[in-house]
Amino acid sequence: LWQQCVELLRDELPAQQFNTWIRPLQVEAEGDELLVYAPNRFVLDWVNEKYFSRLLELLGERSEDVTPSVSLLIGSKRSPVSRAAQPASLVPPVVQVSASLVVDESPSAKPVDVQPAANPAALRTERSVQVEGALKHTSYLNRAFTFENFVEGKSNQLARAAAWQVADNPKHGYNPLLLYGGVGLGKTHLMHAVGNHLLKKNPNAKVVYLHSERFVADMVKALQLNAINEFKRFYRSVDALLIDDIQFFAKKERSQEEFFHTFNALLEGGQQVILTSDRYPKEIEGLEERLKSRFGWGLTVAVEPPELETRVAILMKKAEQTKVELPHDAAFFIAQRIRSNVRELEGALKRVIAHSHFTNHPITIELIRESLKDLLALQDKLVSVDNIQRTVAEYYKIKIADLLSKRRSRSVARPRQVAMALSKELTNHSLLEIGNSFGGRDHTTVLHACRKIAELRESDADIREDYKNLLRTLTT
Ligand code: ADP
Ligand code: MG
Repeated sequence: LWQQCVELLRDELPAQQFNTWIRPLQVEAEGDELLVYAPNRFVLDWVNEKYFSRLLELLGERSEDVTPSVSLLIGSKRSPVSRAAQPASLVPPVVQVSASLVVDESPSAKPVDVQPAANPAALRTERSVQVEGALKHTSYLNRAFTFENFVEGKSNQLARAAAWQVADNPKHGYNPLLLYGGVGLGKTHLMHAVGNHLLKKNPNAKVVYLHSERFVADMVKALQLNAINEFKRFYRSVDALLIDDIQFFAKKERSQEEFFHTFNALLEGGQQVILTSDRYPKEIEGLEERLKSRFGWGLTVAVEPPELETRVAILMKKAEQTKVELPHDAAFFIAQRIRSNVRELEGALKRVIAHSHFTNHPITIELIRESLKDLLALQDKLVSVDNIQRTVAEYYKIKIADLLSKRRSRSVARPRQVAMALSKELTNHSLLEIGNSFGGRDHTTVLHACRKIAELRESDADIREDYKNLLRTLTT
């Protein structure tokens, strides 16, 4: 029943709001009572204020006889607090060292000789130097990634606000802070901004930033060097640990194990942990449940692709920073055409600026057309979502309105999924934008459709044929 109401609410709310506030809630039935758990006070207050009465309303409408009473609590139904106390598993550290894990730019990264050395004392010194070498280079923050340099817009407002709270007011206890969203949307930037701000407030703070692959590589190295205790001590001694792209922990069990313990130790010590991921953590395959659930304890916030105004503002800001004259209409022209993410947007601007320098011409729309010629030509080849919807509706002999409707019968749901998958493949709209074009669905629905169709194209000859025909119609 609760699940039904949550699903209804999902249809009513923008995806970002749903993902940030409703998704982390856990529910447990106790007799006639529903216990709804929020991971922290921030979420609890917000849900209470904004969504609770609506949820009760939905519950009331849907209950057959008695409406269950509902309590909103802070915590988690599986009371994971006790899990922290479980001893680390005693599995010996079997390490699979794959080449990609030990790539390292630092000079200390030479292959390690694990043969016992003749002189144990010498071994010890050498080892500790190597361990230090292996760990020391982790803490670099990019000074350019600050809050001042971060352009705020609707798409990143919540993430920015949450990051700012953590940076300026750690006492709130949003720990861990987890930012998730597609590539090039500013997650790494915001994470560094928090680190930079913490350092500004306390220059002696030990703020460590590293990519999750780095964590894995360091751990592998520490194991090889028999220095796992130093490794542990190092990570547990920090004031703030920033780990980027945690999706790379997937399927790396030993690293997850190690990270889990580090993570618990930090949370218990009141040290701040900030994480980023390219998708909602619960959707990372090959990540242990206990980690997923722990990640949800703090505050999890989505970063969405920037809308047009934000893209323009970002371009203007970057131009200002590089002291380049960028007329507003020129910024608008670029922002309208480069929609996928901020990194692409920056890349395009850099090309335009370089072109303007080399030719010694001011930036005009003409100059932009010239410098981004190949990109724009690619864009022209792209098909519009409208066109895809029209073609798919015709092909399956249904109405376009059915594709946009909430109807769930197979006869329209399947074509709708096909149309969504085609939109993802043939346009450069984000999942969010595609969802919006299909009657305001959220990005996870589109993602699900793309996966489903990919799967069916393997297993179902009809779908495979349909998809091939539609692709041909749309691209020739
Ligand atoms: P992600 O980690 O989400 O893949 P990054 O943080 O690396 O993305 O951002 C990619 C680039 O875009 C960086 O150069 C970053 O400074 C810039 N960027 C992203 N969002 C913004 C923003 N809102 N304002 C200014 N620059 C941004
Ligand atoms: Mg990043």
